[in-house]
Amino acid sequence: MLISLEQVFNIEGKEEFFDYSFTPDYSLSDDFILSSPIEFKGTVKNTAGIVTLNGQALFTANVICSRCAEEFSKSFSVNIEHTLVFELQNEDSDEFYLVEDKELDLDALVCEDIILSLPFVFLCKEDCKGICSQCGKNLNEGECGCKKAVDPRMAALLELLD
Ligand SMILES: [Zn+2]
Ligand SMILES: [Zn+2]
Repeated sequence: MLISLEQVFNIEGKEEFFDYSFTPDYSLSDDFILSSPIEFKGTVKNTAGIVTLNGQALFTANVICSRCAEEFSKSFSVNIEHTLVFELQNEDSDEFYLVEDKELDLDALVCEDIILSLPFVFLCKEDCKGICSQCGKNLNEGECGCKKAVDPRMAALLELLD
């Protein structure tokens, strides 16, 4: 959604609310597939001349577990916070998000923040047992018959779980 921030930039105290959903027409990451639209709720507000965007993006995606390679569905909630400017005083500043022509492509900004917030590792569950390095069996579904050299730290952990 392209939004004109002309008024918000020009009028102190001006605030606009957004509550909408959209589906990007490109993939956000190779590791996951969106399974819902992205819902965004937030405000853009001019406080004493400083324009800030505050909001939250919610969506679900099918992701691949980094340990066992099973696909599973995961809900995400990403906080979006930026100080918006329509001209940069200091070119190398990361603090400010430049809104050219006072027109903000909100979808693009939300997607950018989502991509930056994604973890490097997805786990289907915290104690995912992964797959056997010898036979490839998904160990969440049960033990395989392989003899394995168990890491002593892992052995202690497994004993606790029993
Ligand atoms: Zn897993
Ligand atoms: Zn095995």
